[in-house]
Amino acid sequence: MALTGLDIFKLLPKTNCGECGVPTCMAFAMKLAAKNVELALCPYPSEEAVAKIGAASRPPIRLVKIGPADAEVQVGNETVMFRHEKTFVHPTAIAIAFSDGQAISELAHRTAAVREYCLERVGEQLRIDLVLVENTTGAVEPFVAAVKAVAGGSGRGVILQSTNPAALEAALQALDGQRPLIHAATPENADALAALALKYKAPLVARASSLDELAALTTKLAGLGVQDLVLELPAENPAAALQQNSMLRKAALKNAFAPAGYPVLNMLAGQDLPDLVADAASLICKYASILVIDTQAYQALLPMMMLRQNIFTDPQKPIQVEPKVYPIGEADENSPVLVTTNFSLTYFIVSGEIENSGVGAHLAIVECEGMSVLTGWAAGKFTGEKIGAFIKASGIESQVKTRRLIIPGYVAQISGELEEALPGWQIVVGPQEASDLVPFLKMHVART
Ligand code: SF4
Repeated sequence: MALTGLDIFKLLPKTNCGECGVPTCMAFAMKLAAKNVELALCPYPSEEAVAKIGAASRPPIRLVKIGPADAEVQVGNETVMFRHEKTFVHPTAIAIAFSDGQAISELAHRTAAVREYCLERVGEQLRIDLVLVENTTGAVEPFVAAVKAVAGGSGRGVILQSTNPAALEAALQALDGQRPLIHAATPENADALAALALKYKAPLVARASSLDELAALTTKLAGLGVQDLVLELPAENPAAALQQNSMLRKAALKNAFAPAGYPVLNMLAGQDLPDLVADAASLICKYASILVIDTQAYQALLPMMMLRQNIFTDPQKPIQVEPKVYPIGEADENSPVLVTTNFSLTYFIVSGEIENSGVGAHLAIVECEGMSVLTGWAAGKFTGEKIGAFIKASGIESQVKTRRLIIPGYVAQISGELEEALPGWQIVVGPQEASDLVPFLKMHVART
C-alpha cells in the first residue's frame, strides 16, 4: 500500500539536517511520497525505513534488462504519466525486424548497417537498440542460423519471435548468456514459455488479445516465477494502440494494478514511411518501451531518434556541455573570442555556425546550469560579473592577443557591466540569432 507523507515522516530521523537537499525531514517525506526523490538521498535512514519506504517507493513498472552486458537495453521503471511531472526514465528501445526467410548474406549486410547506424546530436550518440528475428519458416535450423547472423552482425540484444518452442529453445541455447527477449507467451503456451524463460534466465513477452486476458496471463506467469515480463497487446489501428498503452500505464501508476506493471512492446509493420513515422511518434510519446519497426530507412529513423531524445531528456536537467573555452576551426592568437552559455543546444548551434563561417574563433562556454542565454541572464547566471570572472579564470587572456569579446545580442544590456569586469577588453554585441553569425563573423574579421 502507498505510504502517505506523514507515514514516511514517522520513519525518518527527524533531525532536519538538510543533507538530503531539502531543509526538513517533513519536506523530504512529502517529496518521497510524491516519488520525486529517492530515499538514498538521506544518509541516515533506519533499517525499518529502508525496508518500508524502499518497498513503497519501488517503481510501479518493473525494470527489465535485455541483451548482452556490452549492449544491454533497460526498459520500464517509469513513474509518471507525463514527462513534466518528473521525467521519463528509459527511452523507447527501437528494434529492427528481420526474419529467417531472408538470405544470410542479406542479413549480414543489413545487420552491419544496424551496428554502424549512429546519429550524433547535441553531444549524444543515438543508435538502434535491439533486433528482432521472426521464425517465419517455422523450422529450427534456419531460425538458429538467422539468429546467430543477426546477433553477431548487429552486436545488439535480440528478440526471438516464434510460435515453435523447439526453435525458441535452440535459439536460446545459441545465445546463452545474452538475455534475449522471448516472444511471446500467450494464454495457450504460457507454461511452456515460462519454463524456457526460467531455464535460460531470459525476459519474456506476454501477449494477449484483451486487457483482461493480458492481466490474467501476467498474473499466471508471475505466479510461475517469471518476473521479467514485457506486455504486448496487438491493436487494430494506431488509435487503439495509443489508447491501450495509456490504459496500461494508468493502471500501473494510478491504480497500482500489478499485472499491468511491466514495460510495453509495440510493433509497426507493412506501412509506408510517412504513416510509419507518424504512428511511431505517437507510440514513442505514449508509452512504448520497445518499438519494433520493419525498416532501416534513414528518413524514418532520423525523426524517431530526434523525437525520442527530446521526449526522454529530463526536463529538470537540460543537456549541458563542459564550461571551458573551445577552439573552433583554426583558432589562433588573433582569433575573436565569443561567449555563450553551457546549454548543449546553444553550444552546438553556435559552434556549428562559427564553423560554417570559416572564421577560426575561441568559444567561451560559461556555467549556467544548462540554461539558454536569456534564461541564464534572467536567472542571474549569465551576468557581466560572472562572465568576466570566467574569462579571467579560463586562461584565454594568455592565449590571444585580441581583447575583443563578442556577446550574444540578446544580452546587449550587460556590455557595460562586462567592460567593468574585464578592464582592457572591448565588448562587441553580436547578433541575436546564431543563424546570423556567419555574415557577422566574416564582417568582423574583415574590419579587424
Ligand atoms: S538527510 Fe535525512 S535526516 Fe537529514 S533532513 Fe533529510 S531526511 Fe531528515
